[in-house]
Amino acid sequence: MSDLILSDVHGNLEALDAVLADAEGRYDRTLCLGDLVGYGADPNAVVDWARSHVAAIVRGNHDKACVGLDDLEAYNAAARAAAMWTRAALTPQNLEYLQKLPRGPLPIQCRQGAFDLVHGSPLDEDEYLITPGDVAPIRGYLSTSLSFFGHTHVQGGFMAAHGRLKRIAPSQALQLEPDYFYLVNPGSVGQPRDGDPRAAYALYFPDQRLVEYRRVAYDVEKAAGKIRAAGLPDSLAARLYEGA
Ligand code: ZN
Repeated sequence: MSDLILSDVHGNLEALDAVLADAEGRYDRTLCLGDLVGYGADPNAVVDWARSHVAAIVRGNHDKACVGLDDLEAYNAAARAAAMWTRAALTPQNLEYLQKLPRGPLPIQCRQGAFDLVHGSPLDEDEYLITPGDVAPIRGYLSTSLSFFGHTHVQGGFMAAHGRLKRIAPSQALQLEPDYFYLVNPGSVGQPRDGDPRAAYALYFPDQRLVEYRRVAYDVEKAAGKIRAAGLPDSLAARLYEGA
């Protein structure tokens, strides 16, 4: 048994397709940490895929914003424009699917031990866990010693060993130690912001207690071209080339 862990696809079908091709044959189940839509030009294709392929998913802040469950005041101009464009573009079925996504933390049962899925933090989809200092106050709200989170679009995460919280460097494989605490961020499929423009994701192998961080190049030109052709803000196309 192994899990494909995806977060922050953001309507980027080219990045999603590249990830699925790269991971092909290596997973049994797909889990998603939210933000299927917002920013990218293919919200319907991405949600259509999620509806038939994702085993468990939590909602992200953009999923909320794009379907009217969140007011757009807190969003910057580009994000707000993308949310309004996305809301108008979504089919009624896809709008309804996004409106009904559960909020995290969502516990996932697994023979080797349960783990949690969250988007931002266990308290708020729109809370960023960027530094170990951000993690300390929310640890108590997670019921398991392994959680997967997204929202920052930065691959890596945090671990606590012997009471000390530190960042995880996203090397290819993370061996999970018993009694340690882990918050694992697979990075963003559709809009990486950690300086590497390649699509990011992770594979989880519970039997080996192993997380593998992955990066895969995709057709940025095509995804950016669709954003521009849709009349979405140019900054949303430009940032894909930088991974920033
Ligand atoms: Zn996001």
